[in-house]
Amino acid sequence: MKKLLITGGRVLDPKSNRDGIFDILVEEGKIKAIEENIALEDVPRIEAQALWVMPGLIDMHVHLREPGFEHKETIKSGTKSAAAGGFTTIACMPNTQPVVDQASLVEYIQIKAQREGFVKVRPIGAISKGLQGEELAPMGEMMDAGAVAFSDDGNPVVSSSLMKKALEYASMWKAVIISHCEEPSLSKGGLMNEGEMSTILGMQGIPSAAEEIMVARDIALARYTGCRVHIAHVSTAAGVELIRRAKRQGVAITAEATPHHFSLTDRAVEGYDADTKVNPPLRTQEDVEAVLKGLQDGTIDVIATDHAPHHRDEKKQEYKLAPFGIVGLETALPLAITHLIRKNILSPLQLVEKMSLHPARILNLSAGTLQVGQEADITIIDPQAEKKIDKNQLYSQGRNTPFHGQSLYGQVLYTIVDGIVVKNLEWIEKGE
Ligand SMILES: [Zn+2]
Repeated sequence: MKKLLITGGRVLDPKSNRDGIFDILVEEGKIKAIEENIALEDVPRIEAQALWVMPGLIDMHVHLREPGFEHKETIKSGTKSAAAGGFTTIACMPNTQPVVDQASLVEYIQIKAQREGFVKVRPIGAISKGLQGEELAPMGEMMDAGAVAFSDDGNPVVSSSLMKKALEYASMWKAVIISHCEEPSLSKGGLMNEGEMSTILGMQGIPSAAEEIMVARDIALARYTGCRVHIAHVSTAAGVELIRRAKRQGVAITAEATPHHFSLTDRAVEGYDADTKVNPPLRTQEDVEAVLKGLQDGTIDVIATDHAPHHRDEKKQEYKLAPFGIVGLETALPLAITHLIRKNILSPLQLVEKMSLHPARILNLSAGTLQVGQEADITIIDPQAEKKIDKNQLYSQGRNTPFHGQSLYGQVLYTIVDGIVVKNLEWIEKGE
């Protein structure tokens, strides 16, 4: 019988409101006991004194790039990066080549992930065939094959009537639509946030209204249909405020923010480093403060990375030509500890809500909690450890991070999936 004992850690489980020092016994991939003192000899043990023991982190917004763009990332490298970042489950976006817009591709990703992956992978199916925004993809078939949500992420669904139809179909399977909010006639050609900084740098901007208009539309559609919408990567003060008001009125809406949007402003673009080029773009100080407030008061339910790896050569081009995207899996937890926990924006339990419990709920996954009988997906971190981010040391194939050289707090020590340590400091490979 495979057992593992985790002793003396600060166990954080928002679902049961548990925050205290406990031992956890794992047996046969499940949590067998959580008690103040579990006395057992001859069982492999992790001494977790001064560490935080949390339900495995869940990232509901990841680009794995496989199939089609294996030079940017593969299922293997992406899930290794996820394990390094403390994630035990990731949901991957369908904008691959081919686009994940049919059941066979949903199956392909899951089979590949089971064979090569370090963590659990849940595919997100496309809303429209080929992400073309014209015809709905077969959502029911994809759901049966294991899709957990639907999104045309990367592209907005421009047609309001198609979006309405998608919401109605998705709700038949109790699935959520994840909306990439961007009004493309406003954002077209833009490279960074439109404002003082883009004027100074002489770059074409993406106005915050491009996000706000689509957030408002999707709130209207969620209200009208009664179906669930999840707003991806909200980045503007106006967007946050619209979501706050809609929630107050009982509209079925949830939202996520990325670590780069709560920790950087458009000032980071000053050196024309293409690693700061991301969509939606880095915004102003006022927007960052609104996102922080939204995280704090519960308007923003989830922290998701929008992990978007690109090949070195693609990002080496001049700002205008470089693709949008930042890698996020390995910096998310340290950025959250540094900017949210140490600055008292969130309590540790709230952080776990946003990085594990809420994404599990939104995607209808039986994860995101530490309770007896539950699958043993567990992340153990040292919240005090300080480490310099080195983009050359990432497990992702992508090197495109604007956080290179920054010293951040919070280090992932163990990532445990179904009771197996898939990552420790020295990297015990899967199954060994
Ligand atoms: Zn994305």
